[in-house]
Amino acid sequence: MAETSQERRTHRTPFTRVVALAGGVGGARLAQGLAQCLADKALTVVVNTADDFEWLGLTICPDLDTVLYTLAGVENRKQGWGRAHDTVHALAALGQLGGPTWFRIGDRDLATHLRRSELLWKGHPLTEVTRVLAEALGVGPRVLPMSDDELRTRVVTAEGELDFQDYFVKRACEPRVVGFRFEGAETAQASQGVLEALAEAELVVVCPSNPYVSLDPILGLPGVGERVRNRPALAVSPIIGGAAVKGPAAKMMRELGREPSAREIARHYAGTVRGLVIDTADTGDTLEIEALGLRVRAAPSLMRGPRGRAALAQVVLDFGRELAGG
Ligand code: GDP
Ligand code: CA
Repeated sequence: MAETSQERRTHRTPFTRVVALAGGVGGARLAQGLAQCLADKALTVVVNTADDFEWLGLTICPDLDTVLYTLAGVENRKQGWGRAHDTVHALAALGQLGGPTWFRIGDRDLATHLRRSELLWKGHPLTEVTRVLAEALGVGPRVLPMSDDELRTRVVTAEGELDFQDYFVKRACEPRVVGFRFEGAETAQASQGVLEALAEAELVVVCPSNPYVSLDPILGLPGVGERVRNRPALAVSPIIGGAAVKGPAAKMMRELGREPSAREIARHYAGTVRGLVIDTADTGDTLEIEALGLRVRAAPSLMRGPRGRAALAQVVLDFGRELAGG
C-alpha cells in the first residue's frame, strides 16, 4: 500500500521535540516550513519580544503577531506585517482626530492588540495570552513569547539612542547603528515554558532572523544560551550572497564594522550552535565556517512560498538529525 504523505513525513523526520527561535518575518517563514514537516505537538516556536512596544496604551508584539499570523495563514505577505485583506479605517479616523499614524495598524490587526491588551490588563501573563490568541487563530504548534517580563531593544545610533520602533518604523532604519542596549535585561527571565522546552529539545533551530535585534535578545536571557549550547542546535543564515533578504540586518552589520556574509553569521553563532545552513550562493564560505568548528549545509534558502519553506525546513531537520547523531 502506498504511504500517505503524513507517513512519509514522519518517516523522514522522527523528531518529536523541536524548538525554533524566531524573530519576525524570517523566523515565521521557517517556522511555517517546520510546521509543515512536523506534527503540531512536535514544534515549539520561541519568539522575540524585545521589539514590543506601547501604542495608544495597547501592547503591540510585532514578532509574535508575525509568527501567529503566518502559522495561521492570515499574514499580509506583500507588506511583511499585519493581516491579509486588512483595511485601515480606524487608523484614518485616528489621524483625523490628531492621533499618531506612523505605525500602520490595520483594522483586523487592531483586534489582536485590543484582545491581547485586554487580557494583559486582567493580569494574564503574555505566555497565557499568546496561547489564547494562537488557539483562536487555529495555530497548531506551540508559540511561546521568550519572556513574560519586559525587555526592550534600544538602538544606539549616531544620533543618540532610539526606541526600537522609532528606529525601525518612524526613521525607516536610516540612522547609523553604533550598538544595542537591552533595557530590562538585568531582571528579565525566560519563561518557565521556554526553559523547559529547551531543556527537552531534541533539536534547536535558530531561524534566519536578525541576529542582533531578534535572536540575541532571546539567546541572552539567563539560562537560554547555555541550554541551546547543550542541545543539538543549528542556525540558518539570514544573509544570502552578501545581502539580507529583507530588513536592516546587512546594513546593521556594515555599520557595526562587520561584513554582511554567511561567515560573519557563523562567527556570531559559533560556540552557540553546532551547524549552519547557508545558501548555495555562499558555498565559497564553507571552509572558513568549518574552521570555526561549525558543520555546514548549503541549500537554496530563499523561502518563497509554502513549498520553499517546507523544503528548507526539511533540509534543516535532516541536517539536525545528523548533528544529533541519529
Ligand atoms: P523582522 O522581525 O520581521 O525584521 O524579521 P526577522 O528578524 O525574523 O528577520 C529578518 C531577517 O530575515 C532578515 O535578515 C532577512 O534576511 C531574513 N529572511 C527573511 N526571509 C528570508 C528567507 O526566505 N530566507 C532567509 N535565509 N532569510 C530570510
Ligand atoms: Ca521584529
